[in-house]
Amino acid sequence: MEQVKCFMPQTLEEALEIRKNYHAVILAGGSDLMVSKSMGAGITPAFDSPVMILTGVKELKGIRKNDDGSVEIGALTTSAEISASDLVHPLLKDAASRMGAIALRNSATIGGNIGNASPKGDMPQPLILLDAKVVLKSREAERILPVDEFILGSKKTALADDEIITKVILPPQNFTHIFFRKIGMRRANAISKLTLSAAATVQDGVVVDFRASSGAAGPKVARSRKAEEILIGKKLSELPQVKEEFLDAWNGVISPHAMPEYRRNTTRRMLAYFIDALASGHSEGRVE
Ligand SMILES: Cc1cc2nc3c(=O)[nH]c(=O)nc-3n(C[C@H](O)[C@H](O)[C@H](O)COP(=O)(O)OP(=O)(O)OC[C@H]3O[C@@H](n4cnc5c(N)ncnc54)[C@H](O)[C@@H]3O)c2cc1C
Repeated sequence: MEQVKCFMPQTLEEALEIRKNYHAVILAGGSDLMVSKSMGAGITPAFDSPVMILTGVKELKGIRKNDDGSVEIGALTTSAEISASDLVHPLLKDAASRMGAIALRNSATIGGNIGNASPKGDMPQPLILLDAKVVLKSREAERILPVDEFILGSKKTALADDEIITKVILPPQNFTHIFFRKIGMRRANAISKLTLSAAATVQDGVVVDFRASSGAAGPKVARSRKAEEILIGKKLSELPQVKEEFLDAWNGVISPHAMPEYRRNTTRRMLAYFIDALASGHSEGRVE
């Protein structure tokens, strides 16, 4: 088999140069890529084009808070680091802390989870609810795209062949109520069968913000601003009357492929549970 080049840049500038000149495949934690290129136990995975191991680029690591309250997460930040951070929104921490098992969480990165664009990837789901953005850099330019627009479909992204995801930006969000569920075969090392995040802000008995997003429910995370609008502006006392209309609208955003009945019914029950909790005056914080 022909040998391919393998690069190990130590700075972002070097990495961008390599992407520009060789369009090298980016390898971060390798937990998706090494599996997809696996040749079997004990055999080195085979790549048919140049590879760039990104892990030496320190500029892409870490979590910081900006003066405007937004939080930046470097693309190489692992799900273990995200789970442990007090700066990160609890919905993203929930998703990161339920990924794989401890060994995997120590290597799986947020850049890889978004870059892989698997419909079952856990982090894109809360990221889309939180209106997070990805920063994409090439030698010549920088683009900032909502995660929702960056992920085009199953395993498809808007990444150009000379770009690298450098970071994710979370805008400040102060919901009064949040809800997260991941349904998998086991508590650890289970790829999601279905995930749901929901969040609401209630002020003086009125729902001033409501969002939900479903993961593993279609080719990409499903969020419907049109459905959310059915609940926004309603008094808590009005929620029981509009709940069915909202749930029917949400049915429409779950993909008709892959066990749609299970996904619709289960999502419907989870959303109804959260809405009922709001309507009954649940205290602020997490709805368990
Ligand atoms: C046993 C096991 C259990 C798993 N469980 C889960 C789970 O519960 N939930 C879940 O979501 N995932 C799970 N995964 C999948 C995987 O671990 C995650 O998707 C992880 O976040 C991938 O990150 P990585 O750094 O390892 O990516 P890599 O494998 O290095 O890369 C994945 C893809 O992203 C691209 N990429 C990586 N970094 C960048 C960057 N900075 N810029 C542009 N493109 C980039 C790569 O080119 C590649 O296409 C599991 C995998 C295994 C093997």
